[in-house]
Amino acid sequence: MNKFTDTTKHQGQRKKLVKTLIRKGINSKDVINAINKIPRHFFMDSAFKSYSYEDKAYPISSDQTISQPFTVAFQTQLLELVNTDKVLEIGTGSGYQSAILSILVSKVFTIERQHKLFKQAKKLFEDLNYKIKETIFGDGYLGYEKEAPFDAILVTAGAEEIPKPLMEQLKIGGRLVIPLGKEIQIMTRLTRISSKEFNKETFGEFRFVPLLKNKN
Ligand code: SAH
Repeated sequence: MNKFTDTTKHQGQRKKLVKTLIRKGINSKDVINAINKIPRHFFMDSAFKSYSYEDKAYPISSDQTISQPFTVAFQTQLLELVNTDKVLEIGTGSGYQSAILSILVSKVFTIERQHKLFKQAKKLFEDLNYKIKETIFGDGYLGYEKEAPFDAILVTAGAEEIPKPLMEQLKIGGRLVIPLGKEIQIMTRLTRISSKEFNKETFGEFRFVPLLKNKN
């Protein structure tokens, strides 16, 4: 059994996890399908593999975490994606959220500022043949000007403020989902309704590792 084996036991555990997510309020069929498809155990640190299908966040390297499945599903649902969308993720981390996005859209760009995580995730996407357009090493605060504008931008770390470049790099009609706050974050969705106007909605409290400004 190599490390990329997805057994019927794993698949059964995933079905159970999906049921939990539905019970907690996830109702997008596409999101549920994506969670069912992606083996989360490929993205877990070896010490925690047996917990892969618990609805919890776990440590990964560089003092970061793989997000809780509910959080991944909830944020993805808020993006309201259609398959032609171009999506930017800030905070690649384990790569699990990027893999979920890659089931839903064909153009996923993801940025990570921790070099070790960046390298691991990039290799994982290649080994698994996941369709991620580009894995970028850099500061997500700046967005990714080269490929802007985006239909959707997803921030997977807690931000104290909304980085201006991310607002600027959103298409009109585009959605930015970002957890905002210091110790506890409020899940926030900004929808760009014109070049200068954004509509803001909030969706309850979450806890994330912090979005950090570049240390490079
Ligand atoms: N989407 C990830 C969540 C990882 S936790 C997953 O599914 O596993 C958030 C990640 O954001 C961490 O890996 C952290 O290093 C990264 N991060 C924090 N600030 C960042 C920044 N300014 N630019 C890019 N990545 C950042």
